[in-house]
Parts: sequence; C-alpha cells; structure tokens
Amino acid sequence: MEKTPNSSPVGENNSYDPTLYEIITAQREFFATGKTRDISFRRQLLINLRSLIRDNEGLILEALRADLGKSYREGYMTEIGMVEQEINHTLRYLKVWNSPKTVPTPYYLWPSSSIKYRHPLGVCMIFSPWNYPFLLTIQPLISSIAAGNCTILKLSEHSKHTTRLLCDLIDKYFDREYIAAYVDSFEAVKAIRREQLGLIFYTGGSTVARIIMKAAAAQLTPVVLELGGKSPCIIDKTANLRLAARRIVSGKLINAGQTCVAPDYIYIDSSVKDEFVGYVREYHDRFCQAVPTENKFYPKIINKMHFERLKNYLNDGTILMGGEVNEDACKISLTLMEKIRRDSKLASEEIFGPILPIFEFNDINIVINTLRKRPKPLALYLFTKSRECRRLVLENLDFGCGCINDTVMQLSNPHLPFGGVGDSGMGRYHGKAGFDTFSSETSLLRSSALDLNPLRYPPYDDRYLYLKILFRHFI
Ligand code: NAD
Repeated sequence: MEKTPNSSPVGENNSYDPTLYEIITAQREFFATGKTRDISFRRQLLINLRSLIRDNEGLILEALRADLGKSYREGYMTEIGMVEQEINHTLRYLKVWNSPKTVPTPYYLWPSSSIKYRHPLGVCMIFSPWNYPFLLTIQPLISSIAAGNCTILKLSEHSKHTTRLLCDLIDKYFDREYIAAYVDSFEAVKAIRREQLGLIFYTGGSTVARIIMKAAAAQLTPVVLELGGKSPCIIDKTANLRLAARRIVSGKLINAGQTCVAPDYIYIDSSVKDEFVGYVREYHDRFCQAVPTENKFYPKIINKMHFERLKNYLNDGTILMGGEVNEDACKISLTLMEKIRRDSKLASEEIFGPILPIFEFNDINIVINTLRKRPKPLALYLFTKSRECRRLVLENLDFGCGCINDTVMQLSNPHLPFGGVGDSGMGRYHGKAGFDTFSSETSLLRSSALDLNPLRYPPYDDRYLYLKILFRHFI
C-alpha cells in the first residue's frame, strides 16, 4: 500500500498538541472516505503489519531486551509469536466475522427478515502499558484494523526502547491517516476530553483508568478497560502438586511476574503445603539454573521505582525461598513468602513482580467466602482433581479468565475472549471478541409491503384481549 503525504490542516480549536490534532483530523477525514470499510484494504493492512513484524523481528527482540531484559525466546513466545498468531487467525476468519448474519424473525412480523451487520467505530485510540509493550499495542491494533477503524496508538513512556522503535516502524509502514503512534499521555487525555472518538481501548492500572474514563465521559466516548488486580491460585489437597508447582513457577517467572494475569498469591490446603513448597524449590532451580538475579536471560524490573516498591514487599512477611536482589541489574529472584502481615501492601496491592505469597487453608468454603469479599480478579487458577471443589469455585467466584490445572496459558487461545470483570476491567478482545469490541452492530428489519398484522395500527381503544393472548402465548 502506497503512503500518501498527510495534508490535513491544523484547526483553530487547537487546545492540545497540534500534532495530535492533526492526526485525529486526518484520520477522521480518511475514515469518512469509506476506504477502511473495504475488506481487502483491511486485509492488506494486516499483511503489512505482518511484514513489519517479520522484517524487524531482531530489532523488536532487542528493544524488548533493552526495556525488560527478556531473552529472545521469551520475547518471541510472549509478544511476537502471539501477535503473528492473532494476525493469521484474523486473516482466516475476517470475512466470516464481517458478513451480515440473519437472525430469526417472529411470525407476527412476517413477511420480513432480520439481519445484523457490523460497522467500524471510526477513529480509535489504544493506550498500551510497558509490561508487554509490543504485544499489548499490536494485539488490539489487529482488532481495530480488522473492524475497519483508523487507529492512534498511545504508547507507554516507560518502555522507551520499544516505544521508540514502534513509533519509527508505524511511521515507516503505515500512513498516519489510518495508523499513527503517539506518546504524550497528558496531551492524549486533553484530546480525549475534546474529541469524540470511536473507542478508547486502555490497558494499564486502575488509577490512570479513572482519568481516562472521566475524560472520555465528556464526549460520551465508549471505553474498554483492560486492568489488573490480584489473581489467586487455589491448590486443594487432591491437586497434582508437582504439576501445580511447575505451572505456577513458570507462570510467575514469565517477565519476572510483571504480567497482568500472573499468579499473585497462593491459597493451599495446609496438609500439602510442605510437599508443594519442596516442588516449587525443585522447579525453580531447574528453570532458573543459576541465581536468577545473575542470569542475563532473567527479565529485569522495568524501573527503579517498581524495583524499590517490590523490594519493600520483602519485609511484609517471612521469606521461604529466594529473596535475592540485584540493585544494579534491577532484578529480584522468584521469592516465595509466608506469614504475610494482614495490613501490609503485599497482602492488598497487585504485586506485579516475582514475589509469591502463600496462605494456608483447611476449608475451601472459607477461601471462597474470603475471595467473594475481594475485588473480582482478572484471572483465577485452580489446581484440583476434585469435581466438587471445581464446582464450588466456578459457581461461587467471578473472574475474567483462568485455568484449571494451569496458569497464564488461557491467553494463547484466540478463541477465548480476554478481559476483566468489575475492578479488573470491562470489555473483551482476542480473536472475534476483539473484532466485535472494535465494531458496532447494526440491527435491521427488512419489512415487506404486505400487512398481515392489523393490530399494530391505530385507532387504539380499550380492547386488548387479542394482544394479551398474543403476548402471553405466542411471542
Ligand atoms: P499505567 O496505568 O501506568 O499506564 C498505562 C498507559 O497509560 C500507558 O500508555 C501510559 O503512558 C498511560 N498513562 C500513564 N499515566 C497517564 C496519565 N496520567 N494520563 C493518561 N495516560 C497515562 O499502567 P502501567 O503501569 O503501564 O501497567 C500496569 C498495570 O496494567 C497493572 O495493574 C497490570 O495488571 C495492568 N495490565 C493489565 C493488562 C490486561 O490485559 N488486563 C495487561 C497489562 C497490564
């Protein structure tokens, strides 16, 4: 696809960054041309995006290493690979998702037919966080392109290498009239307050989410919030403890725990705790090989502020395993903690790092009652072989996503919608759910000129027995 020069004028009501104003205006004008409604145009953009990734794989992996110390394998597995999978999945199903769907029509509307079809929303803005700065920017972008929108990517200031690279690549591969990258958070919020957009798709913490939502309310712009929270792991006494240890340790080691769906803390039946802790040590040693803080392939904490925050958590209880820190490299080893102080931040805040508190229980019902009083988590992981335990947990607890006998892997299935509930967010994406989120549904009744239902027309009077029979027994 040929790039064309951006020729949109800067308007007079320019009370936020003129560059951003120019982008929004240019994207609005481009959207109005109707070009993004063409499925082949969307497919071409997705193919261009795939080329961007394939041509620059090495640069992307290097940027992820510079920001978060990710090894190439981890960077590819958790960011680039997921995005390639999503592009291929979308290219495969786009036509089906976008095609109008016929739905049943009640007999009293006959002869007519009912259809639903999807529309793009317009100019959408995607706020992405620093922890998966490539994945969490590009994955929602795929849905936005697929749905036929123009998109502004609002990248994180914290992951500066990936952000800089993405700004360059987006500029090189796409015209700003349909995809643009932008970094300044404050100017973005000012723009949201002044401009009605098609959708704001925000991934990040709840404090900023409130700012975004408030600004969006000024223009009634719809908002999707992909937030975090404390995601529990529950292990009952019937669980395969080796499996639980292996999958919890690996889930927590990814990105050194800086993952929104990472296990935040463990509830374990006290009768199996010691055995489980033994397996955790075993798998930790096997997966890390050397002390993680000295291992160049073990991810680092994004910045000093988060490093200090996490280091302070180490005083909130007793360390069972780990606890090593490397100030220079900004690394903290996977740390298992117990006897957590009830009033501590470790007990109440999302950890978002490689620290894993462990709590014991004797009765699963008490765990369920406790969790019901807490904010609804983004993810929940249950390790059990008991059908009854599974039923109790699934029937009584709400959470955005999760696994039975695994952690984090739910994200790798593009057929499973992803998102939070309550405090952990609202809205869904991945695969078709993303396409639906970035588009609106139009419902249409195609009526005939034949009138087979005289009851609908005035004049009305006080007789309504026919209607009563109709509504009660036939509708
Ligand atoms: P953050 O809230 O600091 O930043 C997210 C985005 O908001 C970035 O683009 C950032 O530049 C922007 N931003 C920051 N301050 C802003 C402001 N004052 N006004 C406007 N925009 C601003 O979040 P974070 O620290 O980058 O991410 C950590 C949180 O995100 C954790 O709670 C984590 O669980 C959550 N998270 C959720 C998901 C998910 O998919 N549900 C994924 C990753 C992270």
